[in-house]
Amino acid sequence: MRAILIGSRELAPDIRHFEFYAEGAEKFPYAPGQFVSLSSMLGEKKITRAYSIVEGTGADNRFAICLNRVEDGLYSPHLFDLKPGEGVDMKGPIGTFVLRNPLKDSIMVATGTGVAPMLPMLKLALAQGGGQQFTLIFGVRYERNLLYREEFEQLAAAHPNFRFLPTVTRPEPGWPGLAGRVQPPLLEIIGDRRDLDVYVCGLKEMVDGVREQLKELGFDRKQIIHEKYD
Ligand SMILES: Cc1cc2nc3c(=O)[nH]c(=O)nc-3n(C[C@H](O)[C@H](O)[C@H](O)COP(=O)(O)OP(=O)(O)OC[C@H]3O[C@@H](n4cnc5c(N)ncnc54)[C@H](O)[C@@H]3O)c2cc1C
Repeated sequence: MRAILIGSRELAPDIRHFEFYAEGAEKFPYAPGQFVSLSSMLGEKKITRAYSIVEGTGADNRFAICLNRVEDGLYSPHLFDLKPGEGVDMKGPIGTFVLRNPLKDSIMVATGTGVAPMLPMLKLALAQGGGQQFTLIFGVRYERNLLYREEFEQLAAAHPNFRFLPTVTRPEPGWPGLAGRVQPPLLEIIGDRRDLDVYVCGLKEMVDGVREQLKELGFDRKQIIHEKYD
């Protein structure tokens, strides 16, 4: 299948929201949290990379991804250079980083573009109205990198059972929120609860660090649902 670019918009420096349609498909159903696998021939080589789906209603064939341009990366600069109407090969949706059934009180932990799958997962979880408590701890370096901030703030305003906790490692003076890495607020929120599910997504260093900490606290493997981007 081909994914054809409709357009893109900047979310933060070198991070864009890309909207595609799945060519030839009427609908694009997916489970929130899943990703697509995109590939192109670059020179002699076929390059394939995975991207989490950040948006898509499933009612038509459109979907969006949130893409970070990795300096000197092989594939992400190619996607940034695509023009509307141009496309890439696509497989998917694929992946098991999806909401667990039954849903429990949950903490979502994301850094950078790792927040992408959390947005549709949280929308679905909150729409189900089961009353579970959800907290998203979203770590970035600079406040301007708080991707989809408005969407998360709106979800928090509309749902008293959802807390949005952004944390910034290099805050500007006047930043009212949390400062530093994701681990300290995570430990604080967990407290002595061991009945939570924790969803973790981002680069390996953060994901592995969080998993290690949770295991030391006595969390079972099955309670730590994770996706590593590298
Ligand atoms: C299941 C899955 C879902 C993914 N979803 C997304 C997504 O929604 N958005 C996204 O931008 N990337 C996502 N990625 C990462 C993506 O597949 C590529 O690895 C990324 O675009 C870099 O590819 P590249 O060819 O440009 O860089 P490469 O030439 O492969 O260079 C890899 C370098 O890029 C770093 N890197 C990889 N991903 C990122 C990132 N997101 N931010 C900063 N540095 C990174 C790695 O640490 C490594 O140093 C996902 C990966 C997986 C496995």
